[in-house]
Formats: sequence, structure tokens, C-alpha cells
Amino acid sequence: MSIASQLHTIQQSLPSEVTLVAVSKTKPIPDLMEAYATGQRVFGENKIQEMTEKWQAMPKDIEWHMIGHVQTNKVKYMVPYVKLIHGVDSLKLLLEINRHAVRWRKHISCLLQVHIAEEDTKFGFDAAEVSALLQSEEYKVLTNVHVIGLMGMASYTDQQDQIKREFDQLKSLYDTLAPQYPQFTTLSMGMSGDYALAIACGSTMVRIGSSIFGTR
Ligand SMILES: *Cc1c(COP(=O)(O)O)cnc(C)c1O
Repeated sequence: MSIASQLHTIQQSLPSEVTLVAVSKTKPIPDLMEAYATGQRVFGENKIQEMTEKWQAMPKDIEWHMIGHVQTNKVKYMVPYVKLIHGVDSLKLLLEINRHAVRWRKHISCLLQVHIAEEDTKFGFDAAEVSALLQSEEYKVLTNVHVIGLMGMASYTDQQDQIKREFDQLKSLYDTLAPQYPQFTTLSMGMSGDYALAIACGSTMVRIGSSIFGTR
């Protein structure tokens, strides 16, 4: 099936309140343009250099999301154009994003990445660290970054009950924080293999790559 028809099928299956991030990492610009031509405007990349090259080459009404691990020394390259950074996993990174955002007079939205997978290879905070960060004085004085929710990745497994447990855990953390932080709007969870389950568990944003663009 073509990219356009895959995208169409997925769009049709999503509830209207769920945002689709088309994860285009490693894919060539013509593939992204095919998705763009069908109306897709939100793209996710996991490398700053690749995202910057695509941003330069592509129409400027695209919303670029950084979904990968971010090194603090590269933040400056994406600040001029990035819309949402999904994988914030340290206060240090948030401070660095804010510093560059102030310089560029930009406001950048961020999600805190929470470690939910049982495997220990994935980045992220635990629940206590998320609360501590949001309550810290250092966070409260940041003017140009806005934490609008949480992001998580479930274990890479076909055990549906385990994936569900991990998504439920993230949703319940989100639900405890959301009443205290009115800017919380976004729970980013779900990829090609598990997005239907993620939505059933309360996701508001899914990050889908291979089901749209084919295997990498
Ligand atoms: C690559 C990636 C995705 C998309 O994965 P698919 O299985 O291709 O849908 C989603 N989220 C993150 C953080 C990724 O790195």
C-alpha cells in the first residue's frame, strides 16, 4: 500500500481528539512530501541534524516534533523551529532548552519522558522525579519552556498485558498531575505496534512510523 493510503487508513481509525505524529526518521523527503500532500502536518524525527535538513527543505507549515533522546549541546540547532520536544529526561536539558528559547524569543512545548518499560534500556524519569521537577524552584522560573504533559514507551514485547500495565501506569501518573498543572494537555504514548492499546489506555498523541512509511 502507498504511504497516502496507509496514512488515510490510520487517520480514519483514530478518535478525533488523538493527534497523529508521523514518525519520518530515516525516510527520504519525497516520502514525507507524499504524507504532506494528504494533509499530514505533524512529523516526528529523532535526530536533530536530520530534522533540521528536512525542516529547511520542506513547507513551513509543518509542526516538527523531536521524539528522540536530545543531547544538550545540540539543542541550539532545533530551537528556531521545533514545536514539541517529547523526550525531555533531565532538568539540565529543560534549562538548556529554555536558555536558547529565550535567546530566540520562542516558546517551546515539552513532554517529560517517563520510564515505564520493565526493560532498563529506555530513558526517562520515574514518577517521584517528575513531581519533584515540576515542584522545583528551578523549573518554576523557566519562562520559555512549557511542560504540557508526559511521554512514555512501553516494553518491546508481544505480551499485551504487560504493555497495558505500563500504559495504565503512565496514564494514572498523568491523571494525578493534570489537575495540579492546568497546562497539561498531552499524553504521548503508542507506536505502530501498540497504538490501539495506547489509545484505549488514554493516549492523546500517537507516534507512528513504520505503519505509515514502511519498515526502516
Ligand atoms: C521510532 C519511534 C517511534 C515510531 O516507531 P514505529 O514502530 O516505527 O511506529 C515512536 N516513538 C519513538 C520515540 C521512536 O523513536
